[in-house]
Amino acid sequence: MAAFLAAWGEVVSGVSALVDEALDVEPLGGTTVSWSAVCARERVAQLPDEERLPLCRLHQQTKGAPAPEVNAVLEAFVAHRRVAVLSTLTEAQREVAGASLATLLEHAVAHYAKASAAPVKRGLFKHAKVAAAKHQYGTSSRPEVYVMECPSCRGPRQQEALVCVFCGAGL
Ligand SMILES: [Zn+2]
Repeated sequence: MAAFLAAWGEVVSGVSALVDEALDVEPLGGTTVSWSAVCARERVAQLPDEERLPLCRLHQQTKGAPAPEVNAVLEAFVAHRRVAVLSTLTEAQREVAGASLATLLEHAVAHYAKASAAPVKRGLFKHAKVAAAKHQYGTSSRPEVYVMECPSCRGPRQQEALVCVFCGAGL
């Protein structure tokens, strides 16, 4: 179970990190060395230069890499880790974890769509943006891309479940 929880935690934090990485791409529709490296690692071909900006406009983006490229990377990232995440589980656990992976992907795609279309605050330096984000979210550690999790083992859970299928804790 420890192996599953570690793999699950890595997927959750990995998906959040990918969204942040894609949002940091400047200028709009461009790419960065680290974003290109992520695309290569997940074996997603980057969109051609001439399509990048029109696609961003189509998705009403104000920043970041083109949404279709980001969505392809998010899907690939989850798909590449799916087997490792699910392999050690019982059937009941696999069902919860599989559904939660789908929810995680959905939330990540929706979060990127929203965040990449948010008005850009002009004239803020990067450190000021970081400070503003910290201020805004306070000390809450809840990531912006999340799925419901068990308070005792942090495994994924389903809303209607009464008992955690991973650690047996009452929910
Ligand atoms: Zn649990």
